[in-house]
Amino acid sequence: MDKYIRNIYKGVYTVLVGMRITIRQFFEPNVTHQYPYEHDFEKKQNVREIPKGYRGQLYNRIEDCIGCKKCEMICPVDCITIEGTKLPKGEQLWDSMNVVHLKDGREIIGLIEGSDKKLNLDEPITLTNITSRQGTQEVVDRLEESGDENRTQTISGEEVSRVVTRNPVVFYLDQFDIDMSLCMYCGLCTEVCPTECLTMKDTLEGIEYSSFDRNDLIFEFDKQEMYGKDETEEVEAAD
Ligand code: SF4
Ligand code: SF4
Repeated sequence: MDKYIRNIYKGVYTVLVGMRITIRQFFEPNVTHQYPYEHDFEKKQNVREIPKGYRGQLYNRIEDCIGCKKCEMICPVDCITIEGTKLPKGEQLWDSMNVVHLKDGREIIGLIEGSDKKLNLDEPITLTNITSRQGTQEVVDRLEESGDENRTQTISGEEVSRVVTRNPVVFYLDQFDIDMSLCMYCGLCTEVCPTECLTMKDTLEGIEYSSFDRNDLIFEFDKQEMYGKDETEEVEAAD
């Protein structure tokens, strides 16, 4: 009889312990989301952010692409297609931008004032025309040579971990296509890119681009808007 009563007591006790946990969690903020109906969860405080360096959709900061084709050559599944026309010898469109890597993991993209070849990191570095990795409108704004002072930033040399030097852009890029339906997200193409213009988005935008039609996964970048010329206009080819 004693055993019978003890069993009833244990049964009730364990149910109450379980209910206590359930009731406590009932008043805690949600950690699950009704995805995809609720897709702005990245902004909510109780959720971990997408980690920096996550390999999402590829993005090319096309104005800084020098057309070297290293990414196309190294891609194991041939998902990058590049066609370009080299400028006549001695000519260039512009210099690619500097990418300044800070010791805290952040990156700043802009043009370092003066030469970037022999930087003295004992002194502050001033960057102008600061832009973002993924802002196409900012690209256009920058090329309009905006004198906006907000795009200038001075940073202490001590904060800098490394700097990507500028490269002359000597190719008109007629085609730069990435077929993300083939991509296996290995990241090799971004590793070899000398200007670091090719990156993988580590934001929600870099994850949410699925489609029922494979053709929608071919992303095209071109410089036509920046060249300021009609698409049908012939480009003078190099000798
Ligand atoms: S991430 Fe890998 S598979 Fe995808 S385009 Fe780059 S090299 Fe090719
Ligand atoms: S490696 Fe970089 S700079 Fe060279 S073609 Fe590819 S994206 Fe452009």
